[in-house]
Amino acid sequence: MLVSRFMSRRLGTTSAIRQAFEKAEQLKSVYGAENVFDFSIGNPTAPCLGGVRFALAETERNSAPDLHGYMDSAGYASVRETVAASLARRFGTPYTAADIIMTTGAAAAINTLMQTVLNPEDEVIAFLPYYPAYRVFVENWGANLVEVPFDPETLLPDVAAFERALTPRTKLVIVNTPNNPSGLVCPAETAAAIAAAISRAQEAFGHAILLLSDEPYRELLYDGAQNPWWPALYRNTVVAYSFSKSASVAGERIGYAALTPGMDEHDALHAGIRRSLGDVGFVNAPATAQRMAAACADEPAPVAYYDRNRRMLADALRATGFTFVPGNGAFYLLLAAPDGDEQLLLDRLAACRIIAVGGTDFGCPGYVRLSYCLAPEAIARALPAFAQVAREYGLAPHPASPTE
Ligand code: PLP
Repeated sequence: MLVSRFMSRRLGTTSAIRQAFEKAEQLKSVYGAENVFDFSIGNPTAPCLGGVRFALAETERNSAPDLHGYMDSAGYASVRETVAASLARRFGTPYTAADIIMTTGAAAAINTLMQTVLNPEDEVIAFLPYYPAYRVFVENWGANLVEVPFDPETLLPDVAAFERALTPRTKLVIVNTPNNPSGLVCPAETAAAIAAAISRAQEAFGHAILLLSDEPYRELLYDGAQNPWWPALYRNTVVAYSFSKSASVAGERIGYAALTPGMDEHDALHAGIRRSLGDVGFVNAPATAQRMAAACADEPAPVAYYDRNRRMLADALRATGFTFVPGNGAFYLLLAAPDGDEQLLLDRLAACRIIAVGGTDFGCPGYVRLSYCLAPEAIARALPAFAQVAREYGLAPHPASPTE
């Protein structure tokens, strides 16, 4: 058999996000793109940031022979300097180019960091609900994923359960705020409690514990929400960032890992991630996309675009009687299945040509994730279909006020 046992097991488990995305594409080919409402995948539709077009034009104009060549696997020094200076200005952590490694999206930053630090006996803690690729990445390196439950009232991390999950085998803790799939920003006091618990565990167990802050939605904040800045809370933090969502360049594959200056084993981690980029075949982040990243480093994300979508969707869902915790970040909303049956809700939505993803893949069965990064007009056209599904459930509108 050509396919390995490892990959055969992998192939036996399909990604619900990809499946839903493919289903939406298939329905579009039958009913026409404008008659299918694809709330499945987090593919941004806001126009690319100006820096993206600027970098493309500059690249087009410039005929330097090394413009598209191999480079240091950490990326162009000038791009890393720009990224470091932008982070230092915005968050107050004194990064330099030596702390930054440009990567093929946040996904590559996470996976290469994991190759760098994980031994098979190690435990990686993730807070439910979480981005399903975390499990895959942890399994890539043979380590064990430990899940921390969420508070069903708030969908936020259960900090007491987190404290219980920390063991002498804990090597890495993953935080993701604003969160995919809940669309929630971790409150400052919760972040502080998580950071304090890791500090205590690090001391008690006598070895360093790494915090990985996966933050591709960092700039997508609404209603005045403030995202925690983890490197200020906990020294042994690596930030994984992606320009996919804020700059609308998901297919260009550009992001970075930022190592907190002065963190434990800084240089070995830096060398390990660079080495891993080669080992897993990325070699270095795409050259033109790095220029895009540098040009976008300080450009504001299209927050108003997604906020409009968020309000339109939340107000309409509330008016039809669906139950959900309103989000204040990213572009996701977790809808509770009215009778707890996630598949029935997915089927009823799909019958109205709304494609969403079941919560099971994110570790929150009984919910359905709606990704509201599609075009505002498409959301507006989908609203009567949500109302139709609500009627099928016999839901009654909530008296609550619209999104503030
Ligand atoms: N982390 C989270 C929470 C995500 O939602 C995503 C993508 O949707 C990623 C990481 C991967 O980002 P990228 O595709 O830019 O590598």
